[in-house]
Amino acid sequence: MGWTRCILHIDLDAFYASVEEVVNPALAGQPIIVVMGEANTQRGAVATASYAARQFGVHSAMPVGQARKLCPQAVYLPVRHKLYEEFSSRVMQLLRQQTPNIEQVSIDEAYADITALQEEAEGPEIAARWQELVKIQTGLSASVGVASNKIVAKMASGHRKPAGLTVVEPGFEASFLEAMPTGQLHGVGPKGAARLRDLGINTIGELAGADLDLLRETFGPHLGRELQDRARGRDNSGVVTFRETKSLSAERTFFEDTYDRAKLWREIQQMSMELADRLNKQELLARTIAIKLRFNNWRTITRAVTLASPTATASEISTAAGALMRMAWKRGTPLRLLGVRVSNFSETSAPRQLLFPYKLG
Ligand SMILES: [Mg+2]
Repeated sequence: MGWTRCILHIDLDAFYASVEEVVNPALAGQPIIVVMGEANTQRGAVATASYAARQFGVHSAMPVGQARKLCPQAVYLPVRHKLYEEFSSRVMQLLRQQTPNIEQVSIDEAYADITALQEEAEGPEIAARWQELVKIQTGLSASVGVASNKIVAKMASGHRKPAGLTVVEPGFEASFLEAMPTGQLHGVGPKGAARLRDLGINTIGELAGADLDLLRETFGPHLGRELQDRARGRDNSGVVTFRETKSLSAERTFFEDTYDRAKLWREIQQMSMELADRLNKQELLARTIAIKLRFNNWRTITRAVTLASPTATASEISTAAGALMRMAWKRGTPLRLLGVRVSNFSETSAPRQLLFPYKLG
């Protein structure tokens, strides 16, 4: 007999940088920094740093100028989304061949409910086998957490990286989390941690033992309870095997701030084509079209319009985006970033699958 529930959280290590290493083995072991925006300027931000680069203190979201100071010898590469999507879907496919109970949560992360597979092998053994499978089939390393629920499995996969395998036995959920700072608890983040600190709560263990009324007063009745449950390592949320795509977007960060109208309109058309392509692939129609503008003083605005009937056509998306642009952008104003987003989806064919409500976590 295995655990009552056995959940894996599989997280690919330094994903973008690892993919670059796999497709170009000459880079193996070198510090690699994949940059969002412009790799050759000071403007971009670090999307992913390889573990060799992290040793120099480089981490994701860091401005690329700062990364260059810390690690000038690194190989700097621009983000290649298509390539990473390809690797991601290979990994997800591989996991889905093992069980249909896979919930992909981001390009490089998934949960698996392997409760039923425990008849064949124990959870940790299955986790190790999958790790090896992913490595052999795709060249990528993954860290895996094994636990009785999603929250704890997620925390476990981040516990030891890269290529870590962390098992939290049933009954040890709370003690596994106890000493960690609250900011590490999935869903808390820096803001939540700061508010907890104001209450004198610094560790997850302290949060687990805190006065529930105080938490409810501070965070509201629902979230207060939820936070404490999480801190105690309790979570009943299920692995959701089908999740709705909520929005799709494309963005351009400019090498130099631009007010070139023709260029901006070309970019809108190009991005609209990309989005139409992705909508068609996913058999979706979008009803809401939005644009995002970032000015050279970093002020960012978005404007959206909802169409009378949904679309997956590039020209309709770009017409709507262009109209928004005419309202929101004054000619001659330099832009740093321009983006187009589509949302409010309906499916092109009849719904094929039930949607399950998705709970935080
Ligand atoms: Mg990852």
